[in-house]
Amino acid sequence: MPTFQSLKGTIDQYPGAKEAIADIERRKKVEGELVQVLRTHGFREIRTPAIELTDVFTRTSGEESDIVLKEMYTFTDKGGRSCTLKPEITAPIVRSLVQHRWDIGGVKKLFYFDRCYRYNRPQKGRLREFQQVGIEIFDQAGPAADVEGIALAVEILEKLKVGKTTLLLNTIGTAEDRARFVKALKAFLEPKKESLSEDSQKRLDSNVLRILDSKAHEDQEALEGAPVLSDYLAEESQIRFKRVCELLDRLEIQYVIEPKLVRGLDYYCHTVFEITTESLGAQATVIAGGRYDTLVKEMGGPEMAAFGWACGIERLLLTLADQNLCPPIRNRTDIYLIPLEDGAVDICFEQMIHLRRQGIRAEMCHKVRAIGKQLKSANQFDARLAGIIGEEELANEQVSIKNLDNQTEKKVAIHDLQKYVQSQIS
Ligand code: ATP
Ligand code: MG
Repeated sequence: MPTFQSLKGTIDQYPGAKEAIADIERRKKVEGELVQVLRTHGFREIRTPAIELTDVFTRTSGEESDIVLKEMYTFTDKGGRSCTLKPEITAPIVRSLVQHRWDIGGVKKLFYFDRCYRYNRPQKGRLREFQQVGIEIFDQAGPAADVEGIALAVEILEKLKVGKTTLLLNTIGTAEDRARFVKALKAFLEPKKESLSEDSQKRLDSNVLRILDSKAHEDQEALEGAPVLSDYLAEESQIRFKRVCELLDRLEIQYVIEPKLVRGLDYYCHTVFEITTESLGAQATVIAGGRYDTLVKEMGGPEMAAFGWACGIERLLLTLADQNLCPPIRNRTDIYLIPLEDGAVDICFEQMIHLRRQGIRAEMCHKVRAIGKQLKSANQFDARLAGIIGEEELANEQVSIKNLDNQTEKKVAIHDLQKYVQSQIS
């Protein structure tokens, strides 16, 4: 085994990798398809730095969120600042908005393809460095923006033919709604404290809401008969959620209301959602997001409503690969030039460079070798054509062209080579 190995939970992405998540070409293809849809919906791309001041995350995600408690890659730089590799992209985007105010110029719908870093336990669909594609819609407070965002997420998965997915939907109301509910939930769980999981016992003091989506069996048992959030919503919040559901119905988008769905970060309010797929096992969520109307102000900006979601690219690729929906991409060479005489090597070289300048993908063998060996190389390059120059071709200023797909052969004058190749590949 080589001395240096990539870190656990990180992956090298290289051309033609067997696994879809490691194959940069399949990634790029999916990315290209997504960008097209995102642009059609009016989103423009943003990219923020890989590192931020740690406060950008601790002050927004919530001190008690999984990310802040145990998942951040934090270090002190040489200037003594605490910096963090970004574990999520929303807070950096909001930081950027507040810093540059690009929203004033009308930029309010953004998308990103970006890497995130979280120190969690690596497993299928869970990495320490992973990629997210996501959107943010700023300055639209109405329920239509929530549905616009959700409909886009659904459309993306449909366009990629991801197969059966489930849209889980809930509302977590306003901060006041939640405060009332948290009080009731805490009162309900306090007497059962001993039966809760260790993590949830801690959450009882710090982040009661998160107990709701705990996967621990004992927590789910303790939650039986617990108060439900929807009973604690103010009328306005209820009306808002009803409107979200109505608009989804109108678009014939199916959803399941999941009263226990809460998101892991502190900044969410009202609509929250997740889209799950069947093929991912424990890491079933591909897309997750919701509304976050207070974050912009909390980060020093104006009062500004916002809605967004993020999709894990690796989970997306795993789902697609599971269903054979992203087969390896062929990387074809148009013509592979084969010199069989010393005098032909420079001619092949010159032709190769010339063909490439004309947009033709040409490769060659740089020294004279047996024809069998050179044809084998042509095969490795997945060439459509082989252009062979031997003694006879040299004398007649010709190239013997072999079509490697159907094995037909033809002699072409060297000065006609480009035209001929073009006619064969278009
Ligand atoms: P989970 O409950 O699976 O940890 P999360 O709530 O932490 O997810 P978000 O912060 O909402 O996830 O991130 C949005 C999406 O990013 C997830 O739905 C998932 O597709 C992807 N994602 C999150 N964490 C990871 C990870 N460690 N590795 C790969 N993809 C991830
Ligand atoms: Mg997580």
